[in-house]
Amino acid sequence: MLNFNAVRIPLQKITDPTISSSGVNLYVLRLDKTHPHISGNKWYKLKYNMEEVKRQKAEVVLTFGGAYSNHIAATAAAGKEYGIKTIGIIRGEELDENKNPTLRFAKECGMQLRFVSREEYRKIKIDPANYPIAQSPNYYIIPEGGTNAPAIKGCTKIASLIDIPFDYVCCACGTGGTLAGITISLKEKQQAIGFSVLKAPGYHKEEIIKWLAHFHIYTSANLHIEENYHFGGYGKHTPELLKFISDFEDQNGIPLDQVYTGKMMFGVYDLIRKNYFPKDSTVIAIHTGGLQGKLRPNPTLPKGEGD
Ligand SMILES: *Cc1c(COP(=O)(O)O)cnc(C)c1O
Repeated sequence: MLNFNAVRIPLQKITDPTISSSGVNLYVLRLDKTHPHISGNKWYKLKYNMEEVKRQKAEVVLTFGGAYSNHIAATAAAGKEYGIKTIGIIRGEELDENKNPTLRFAKECGMQLRFVSREEYRKIKIDPANYPIAQSPNYYIIPEGGTNAPAIKGCTKIASLIDIPFDYVCCACGTGGTLAGITISLKEKQQAIGFSVLKAPGYHKEEIIKWLAHFHIYTSANLHIEENYHFGGYGKHTPELLKFISDFEDQNGIPLDQVYTGKMMFGVYDLIRKNYFPKDSTVIAIHTGGLQGKLRPNPTLPKGEGD
């Protein structure tokens, strides 16, 4: 089962020449090491949801996602681990699950896949109750991307895994749920920096402030969102980003994906180069996992990394 006390998460110091000469202490919290299949932050987002499923005695977990969604893969794996049926509503009618590694994995975990058109998907996403099958009282619905109150509660545990004093914590933002949980748990002087992986100005700040209020926090003083590192939008990438990822991997032996952690780390390095962080400050970059959606495995990584 998913047990917070059972996991030991490495905190890895980055010592490549750029960072060593910068005067900033950069560490990576390797949430990608949390679980082999319930990847990175998704483990924390699913933990209390799965407990809620058990408590409500729901029979099926129903959720939503795109064809390469880390959330779909993680939910399928969590369902398998908990012995709970899962249904994934997948955006796109023309998909062949046997040709797509994410969907093949989800299916192998026992997830039932239902393909819907983009238009239908949009409607379902806004109001899942619109979807006839979701009206079953025995279904537990997890929204697209997996962000809801139990997910954010799980993410409030992430900062407690950092066992050194720190000033900044950096995290990629998809829905912003993970960063919301992290922000809730920070001490007064600590700062959370979110890196938007989508082109949606203002969206993350607004969403996270809403979630903070849900948890009775009415200040966003220790929250900052960087919106200049989305590389064209969700799932988009450039040769510059891919080169950064492969250089970072070669120098530090830590795999990054091009959808989330690669963009965050690119942003962290850019901010360090621009002297955003005061000298001697300690910056924690959260490795949120997501390696199942990685574009090209890097053959130079140590065995077991990036595959
Ligand atoms: C899902 C995901 C995120 C985004 O998490 P949110 O809580 O939606 O902001 C970040 N990184 C990785 C690797 C992910 O899979």
